[in-house]
Amino acid sequence: MRSIIVGGGVAGCAMATALHALPQSTASTIIERRLPDAPGGMGFLLMPNGLAALRELAPRTDWSDAGHWIEHASLRASDGQTLAEHLLEPALCVSRTRFLALLRDAALANGRTHFIHGSSVVHLETTSREHEASFRAHSIVLDNGCSLDGELFFGCDGARSQFRAMLFSKAELSDAAIHEIVSVADAPALARELGTTFRKYHDPRGGLAVGMLAEGDGRVVWFIQMDASRHHVVDTSGPALAAFADAMLDGWAADVVEAIATTDFATSHLWKTRDLPPLPALHRGNAALLGDAAHACLPFTSQGANSALVDAVLLARLLRDVRTAGGAPEAFAEYSRLRRPNHRRLFLEGRRLRAAFLAPAASSGPALPLVA
Ligand SMILES: Cc1cc2nc3c(=O)[nH]c(=O)nc-3n(C[C@H](O)[C@H](O)[C@H](O)COP(=O)(O)OP(=O)(O)OC[C@H]3O[C@@H](n4cnc5c(N)ncnc54)[C@H](O)[C@@H]3O)c2cc1C
Repeated sequence: MRSIIVGGGVAGCAMATALHALPQSTASTIIERRLPDAPGGMGFLLMPNGLAALRELAPRTDWSDAGHWIEHASLRASDGQTLAEHLLEPALCVSRTRFLALLRDAALANGRTHFIHGSSVVHLETTSREHEASFRAHSIVLDNGCSLDGELFFGCDGARSQFRAMLFSKAELSDAAIHEIVSVADAPALARELGTTFRKYHDPRGGLAVGMLAEGDGRVVWFIQMDASRHHVVDTSGPALAAFADAMLDGWAADVVEAIATTDFATSHLWKTRDLPPLPALHRGNAALLGDAAHACLPFTSQGANSALVDAVLLARLLRDVRTAGGAPEAFAEYSRLRRPNHRRLFLEGRRLRAAFLAPAASSGPALPLVA
């Protein structure tokens, strides 16, 4: 069976790796619009469900090489006063670039996967769009006019997925109510001080917080999370972001001041976070959606990358006994049936955590921004 995977991020590389385990999978082509050396993002937390999926995907890879273990969460007021402490099931804070490099190596390991970089998928050719039962995708068209045939299609092209739009034209992302400035600080002393603790500082009025985690080699991944209706970033140049952070976080705890001082804001990223209301299905015929394309969720859940890994593992399990491409739609339907309740739960949990974040500090203290 020949697979076409649209998007070479976490979901796409995980799906290609998962397909390796299937002898009937003869070749996988990943189409990725970014070039291999393009900046790869900052970092995220691999939670227990994501780590379990990784162990199944590539048991011989030591994923702990990609980051730093996090075992506690400390929720604090903006002046540094501790509000709540939580013991966490160990999670791994990874650099997205380093993690993706390991995942790409795993995807390429058996020689049956190849990448096409620098091309976007713009169209999906199908036999029938009107009759659901006979819907079959047979090729994709790239922005350079080339067309590629396949038997199985996986849409892994992220939150603003074009592939999703080709399957479900009415699906729409929500507006971005929360913006985040995500940065990496080169801060060995702060990284040592943080150790295995995820610290998050909160403005008591709500709608503004700073989170930080050590990611390894003296680096700290940190973010300023803000209510987009109250705090406006107009200029995303490095000096403007630095000035914005200085002004917004004046008088905050010493860790926050240190993170600002040790950050090159030219590499920071303004992330306008959006989620996707649950889709009617995660597949059509022989085309399935994974990762953010299927279920973009708010960052409060810390589940974006983790859910993408779980999707890939489940799809591969369901395809294990499918001998010919004709059996794939049934496996994809089962995947959709099993995963949709989880997506709905993450969507609702993300919304609940967003409401808690936007409100003034509750007497019960801030909510832990993680969903298992
Ligand atoms: C550059 C980048 C940096 C990020 N940085 C962070 C971060 O620091 N922290 C964090 O928590 N999350 C970050 N994310 C998001 C995070 O990776 C995802 O939420 C999560 O890992 C789910 O992965 P995904 O593979 O579904 O989506 P993504 O990781 O977004 O991957 C989707 C891939 O599809 C490609 N693509 C999109 N459209 C097309 C098309 N039409 N044709 C071909 N290819 C296409 C994109 O270039 C991208 O590589 C980042 C995403 C990207 C793309």
